[in-house]
Amino acid sequence: MEKEVRVRFAPSPTGALHIGGVRTALYNYLFAKKNNGKFILRIEDTDQARFVPGTENYISETFKWLGIEPDEGVNYGGDFGPYKQSERKELYKKYAQQLIDEGMAYYAFDTPEELDAMRQRLKEARADNQVYDSLSRNSMRNSLTLMQSEVDGLLEKGMPYVIRLKVDRNQEVSLNDMIRGEVKVNSNNIDDKVLMKSDGMPTYHLANVVDDHHMKISHVIRGEEWLPSAPLHVLLYQYLGWADTMPQFAHLPLLLKPDGNGKLSKRDADKHGYPVFPLDWKDPKTNEKSIGFREQGYLPEAITNFLAMLGWNPGTEQELFTLGELIDYFSIDRINKSGAKFDIEKGKWFNQQYVKNSDDELLAHGFLKLLETEGVACTKDKAVAVCGLLKERVTFPHEFWTSGQYFFYPPKEYDAKVIKKKWNDEAKFILGDYKEALKTTDTFTKELALNTLNTVLEKHGVGLGKVMAALRVAITGLGGGPDLMGIMAVLGKNEIINRIENALTKI
Ligand code: GLU
Repeated sequence: MEKEVRVRFAPSPTGALHIGGVRTALYNYLFAKKNNGKFILRIEDTDQARFVPGTENYISETFKWLGIEPDEGVNYGGDFGPYKQSERKELYKKYAQQLIDEGMAYYAFDTPEELDAMRQRLKEARADNQVYDSLSRNSMRNSLTLMQSEVDGLLEKGMPYVIRLKVDRNQEVSLNDMIRGEVKVNSNNIDDKVLMKSDGMPTYHLANVVDDHHMKISHVIRGEEWLPSAPLHVLLYQYLGWADTMPQFAHLPLLLKPDGNGKLSKRDADKHGYPVFPLDWKDPKTNEKSIGFREQGYLPEAITNFLAMLGWNPGTEQELFTLGELIDYFSIDRINKSGAKFDIEKGKWFNQQYVKNSDDELLAHGFLKLLETEGVACTKDKAVAVCGLLKERVTFPHEFWTSGQYFFYPPKEYDAKVIKKKWNDEAKFILGDYKEALKTTDTFTKELALNTLNTVLEKHGVGLGKVMAALRVAITGLGGGPDLMGIMAVLGKNEIINRIENALTKI
């Protein structure tokens, strides 16, 4: 029987989730759904010093917003819990002890000063690896160099210790990464990593491997920054006797700055004013604020589409994919090896596409809320009409308000360029006549507005082109915008007449 696909996203709760982490979560989600598997959220909170309250809720809110909610995990339940590492300490202790008992791990009692001295020594000797490993461990204070009675004595006295993995020399460690292919490392280049810290907490490496095994994770899909740790994890699976059920690895390409120079960073994003977090966030420790894609006006569908294309490609020209389509098309072998430029302009383009393709009523719903906060009264029908008219021309929904002021207020100013070019006696005369003609109509629709204008123009033997710009500037103050008759239908007959009168007296 095929192994059930179970993947996990395993963030450390150290503050707002970076957009790179969101992409990792999305790829895990897509892979799980594509393969009828499970997507799991595990919180890796073994580093108490870096814990930032609020992170878990932030992550859940992000997933909810994007529609990529886990099947199991902290806040979601499931049969493999607890899903928070701080609640699984006993399990890690058990396996650390197992490794010690089987001679694959050892106690190390070295003080920070002794560790510093070791590094200094290795540096002076110009050793290739200036780390605690199969060579340097021989001159340190650990259960491999001390007599058993000494070790027992130290443990009894409550001497602080860590547990380190005893990495054998000259072993070839290899793994077959689904994105990078075969990765081979000689174990001489892997140090004796700490598995249990002196505070009794496991390190990331031990906890991660133990949990992936216990949670029956089939595929580990994570950022490239974890690739250097993967050989160590392979060793851990072997030493723990779990090599047969080891998950497959897939290390995702890095996200690069928009110009491709270096890793995407918050500093660069702040400098250029674009977000790198899904939601607004205020760090409770530092009070530092970060802007989020959601609050900047990005739609969730645009973000999932944009992120999916950062490092993956469908192999066709198609660019717009709903989440459902992404699930259908997603495959790990179409993930690129090289870093992906975080092209924020492309992100805006996606947003524009999704705004344009959104239902007018849906857009109006958000628009009415915005108008409420602005203290502007508006009927639902008007909001629907404004969104319908403007949606092809905006990138963000808040532009319905910023670019659509003329739907609510008569123009205060008139575009000087248009006035210079198009506001002439002929146009003024015709607008005056048009205004009078409008007064005699009862109902007022887009069609009627145009027919009335055409009748006036015919009477004077003038083409539409001679007056359209003047009419637009009189009504909106601007030189461009959506269908003018549509705007006029929203504003209504009396408002149009007033605005033309105003323009004729003011300009
Ligand atoms: N806790 C690690 C992180 O914060 C998880 C890495 C992994 O997926 O193995 O990214």
